[in-house]
Amino acid sequence: MLETVDVGRQYVNLYESSAGAEAVAQLRELAEPLRGARVLHLNATPYGGGVAEILRSEIPLLRDLGIVADWRLITGDEPFFSVTKAMHNGLQGAERELTPAERETYLTYSARNASLLEEEYDLIVVHDPQPLALLKLRGKGSSRWVWRCHIDTAEPNPQVWGFLRQYLEGYDAAVFTLGSFAPPDVPVGRVEIVPPAIDPESPKNMRLDRRTAQNVLAWIGVDTARPLVTQVSRFDPWKDPLGVMEAYRLVREEVPDLQLALVGSMALDDPEGWEIYRRIQAASKSDLHIHLFTNLTGVGNVEVNAFQRLSDVVIQKSIREGFGLVVSEALWKETPVVAGRAGGIPLQMQGGAGGFLVDSVEECAAKTLRLLKDPEEGAELAGMGRELVRGRFLLTRLIADELRLYGALLG
Ligand code: UDP
Repeated sequence: MLETVDVGRQYVNLYESSAGAEAVAQLRELAEPLRGARVLHLNATPYGGGVAEILRSEIPLLRDLGIVADWRLITGDEPFFSVTKAMHNGLQGAERELTPAERETYLTYSARNASLLEEEYDLIVVHDPQPLALLKLRGKGSSRWVWRCHIDTAEPNPQVWGFLRQYLEGYDAAVFTLGSFAPPDVPVGRVEIVPPAIDPESPKNMRLDRRTAQNVLAWIGVDTARPLVTQVSRFDPWKDPLGVMEAYRLVREEVPDLQLALVGSMALDDPEGWEIYRRIQAASKSDLHIHLFTNLTGVGNVEVNAFQRLSDVVIQKSIREGFGLVVSEALWKETPVVAGRAGGIPLQMQGGAGGFLVDSVEECAAKTLRLLKDPEEGAELAGMGRELVRGRFLLTRLIADELRLYGALLG
């Protein structure tokens, strides 16, 4: 049996205050015909990264809406996750191809996971490439299958995409974050575009008064009286943490008491994280104003909440980005953002809302400095960002889109 992830209980009605009564009523309406439907979400890690973040919030709400929802994990270890991270990188355009041994490793683990998927579901939603091959290796059974891709697949490495593509055959739908992410030769009849969303009621995004947030950060050694810029991200080259450090150094020439926090989580399925972490650690060793934190040193949801709330500017200098939940998370807390013009980020900062999109270290530094020097401008942009998030990137909208798809597939 594949392991299930325990999640808490949550109630859709609670979302009336953030998303509005109408959004909640719409969810109930969409869920009514699906009452009792058995839906499985399948991914590779219970923590670290956006997919786990979304599922932890979504599963309890699906249950509250009357759907029999489960979240299960495929199993794997270092050799498997090294291969799947190479696939992830390949789908985002990295040049490195998969070796025959890597493809074999992927299939060996996938076959094992396929044999462990014993339960029957009406609908199985497979997240990202790690569990993709299960349909083919297990057989479709009487379930409908959906592939939910969270990665920027606009310009995939042809060899990596060519290999994975064959395992998409048989899926009833493929869901991407942006229209431009869907490769033209997706062998699936139904392609849907559904951007992710944040949970306004989770410990990461809930209201946190300023005083408490200050205590939380002071406890871990941040001086809350001094200016602070933060990037919250997995330690991943596509998130460009070294570029963030370079930009910070440029800004610091003008703002000498500036602090930088790099807050990163280690995901179970991302073995690359440690190597990047060590590189950042080496590069920041001589600078006492750079704080490096991970989920393994006690920085969890509430701390991330406090960082995103109290930072003068949140940076997200991604080079490639599926969506970048961290952008909406910061904007929801009315903190201005300077972010790489990549993947799903511009969608969250449309029309100039939220802050500035940048294409280089220098631009990142210049815009960060501008917001540090003009907090009023920052507050205005961030306020616009929060309203954009309220309208388009809250969990209620995501679940409504998904329920429409479930309804279409199961109806
Ligand atoms: N995150 C976290 N702690 C960290 C780093 C990241 O809780 O130290 C969370 C972050 O708040 C966000 C998610 O992990 O909810 C990352 O999602 P995003 O879409 O930004 O990027 P991904 O990791 O999925 O590429």
